[in-house]
Amino acid sequence: MYCPICFNNTLKLAHSGVVKVTINGKSKPTSQFIYNLKSDKQEQINSRLKDVLTEYFQWYKTLQNRDLIKNIDLTSYDFICSEGCKISLNHKISVIDLVVPQADFKNVSQQVADEHDISIAL
Ligand SMILES: [Zn+2]
Repeated sequence: MYCPICFNNTLKLAHSGVVKVTINGKSKPTSQFIYNLKSDKQEQINSRLKDVLTEYFQWYKTLQNRDLIKNIDLTSYDFICSEGCKISLNHKISVIDLVVPQADFKNVSQQVADEHDISIAL
């Protein structure tokens, strides 16, 4: 992957870290989960994503004004550049297809939205 700092093809996701979930550009302090690609099964990671979305949607349902959910982003800054660049919080790099496959991401999001009667259009 390309590093956002040195622009070399030297960026790799760390084998373990934290994924932040942002929904329509917003997130709660609890909207994150850990991953470990060496020891977690995909179902375990998907289930953590499901828990985060469930918690968020339960809260979202109680709001008076609800926008259609058009964006759910999964990002992390647990990336390592072999050139030694410091990836920080400001570098929100998507981990869809790295931590959660696109198809699983869509399925889980749709499933949780349906369970909470929330409309999403990703
Ligand atoms: Zn770099």
